[in-house]
Amino acid sequence: LLGNEPVEDHQITVCVRKRPLNKKEINKKEVDVISVPTKDQMIVHEPKNKVDLTKYLENQKFRFDYAFDDSCTNEVVYKYTAKPLVQTIFDGGMATCFAYGQTGSGKTHTMGGDFQGKQQDCKKGIYAMAARDVFTYLKSPKYKPLNLIVSASFFEIYSGKVFDLLADKAKLRVLEDGKQQVQIVGLTEKVVDNVDEVLKLIQHGNAARTSGQTSANSNSSRSHAVFQIIVRSPGMHRVHGKFSLIDLAGNERGADTSSANRQTRMESAEINKSLLALKECIRALGMKGNNHLPFRVSKLTQVLRDSFIGDKSRTCMIAMISPAMSSCEHSLNTLRYADRVKEL
Ligand code: ADP
Ligand code: MG
Repeated sequence: LLGNEPVEDHQITVCVRKRPLNKKEINKKEVDVISVPTKDQMIVHEPKNKVDLTKYLENQKFRFDYAFDDSCTNEVVYKYTAKPLVQTIFDGGMATCFAYGQTGSGKTHTMGGDFQGKQQDCKKGIYAMAARDVFTYLKSPKYKPLNLIVSASFFEIYSGKVFDLLADKAKLRVLEDGKQQVQIVGLTEKVVDNVDEVLKLIQHGNAARTSGQTSANSNSSRSHAVFQIIVRSPGMHRVHGKFSLIDLAGNERGADTSSANRQTRMESAEINKSLLALKECIRALGMKGNNHLPFRVSKLTQVLRDSFIGDKSRTCMIAMISPAMSSCEHSLNTLRYADRVKEL
C-alpha cells in the first residue's frame, strides 16, 4: 500500500491515521466521511444530509507526510512514524512521537496497543515496537561497542501535575535549574535489559493509568501519558539519547471551557494551553534562537523542553481521525492542527 520507504531526514514528520468505523457506529448507521485517496492525502467529505448547513463546507483536502487509511496496521504506521526515530537516539539526539486526536480516535490503540477484552496487548503498540528496535540497535555491531545502558520511565500529566505511572501514581515535582535543565524529581527510571522487561513496565503503567476510572469519567482522556526510553553512556551515565512517546489528552477536552464544573473548566483550560504550546514548540524545532518559546506555559512542554532544542532533535506527530460523520467537526479541528504543525 505504501510503496516508498520512510523519509528519514525530516526534523518534523506529520502523519494522519484514520481508524475504521466500529461496531457501535455501524449499528447507529454512521456514515464514513473520511477518505484517503493517496498515501499523503486525507479528505473530509461533505455530509449528504446536513444537520447544520453553515458548519460543513465542501470536501476539504489535506496533505501530510503520510496518510494511513483504515486498513493500515499499527506495524505499518510504526514503520513510517516512530521507527526512523530510533536511529536518532543512537546518533545522540532527542526523539518524540505524539499521538494527537479526539477521545476515541485511536491514540491509545496506536501507542499502547490493542485491547483484547480487558487485557491490553501492548506488544502491538508503538511503545513496544520502539523498545524492540532499541534493543536491536543496541546489539548491532555498530552500537554494541558503546556499551550503552537502556532505561525506561512512564508518567502522566494531569491538570498540570506529573504522576509516576511506575510508582503508584506518586505526584512528582518539576524543577528547573539556572541552566534551564528540567528535572522531574524522583521519577522512576528502570534499567531494562530486554524487550520483555520493557513490556512489563508498559503493562504496569497502562494498568496504573486506567485504574479507578469508569468510561463515563475517564481521566485518561484528560491526561497526557509520556513513555520514555532513555539511552545512557556507561560510567558517567550521561544521557546519550532519549525517545519520548506520548499519548496526548483528547483534543476535544481542551474546548470544554464552559462546563458548569470548575475542576473540569480548569482541566480543559490546561489541556488547551498545553496543546497550543506544543504546536508552537514543534514548529520552532530547528529554528535558530528559539529561547523564547512557550516551554513554561504548560507542564507538557516544560518537561519535554530538551526534545525541542538542538538540531539533532526529531519529532513525529500522528493525528488520529474518527471516520464517522458525527465526528466531522473534531476531525476537521484535528486536521487543521496537524496542518499548522507541518506548515513552515
Ligand atoms: P483514544 O485513546 O484516542 O481515546 P482508543 O485508542 O481507546 O482511542 O480507541 C477507541 C476504540 O477504537 C478502541 O476500542 C480501539 O480498540 C478502537 N480502535 C482505535 N483505532 C483502531 C484501529 N486502527 N483499528 C481497529 N480498532 C481501533
Ligand atoms: Mg486513550
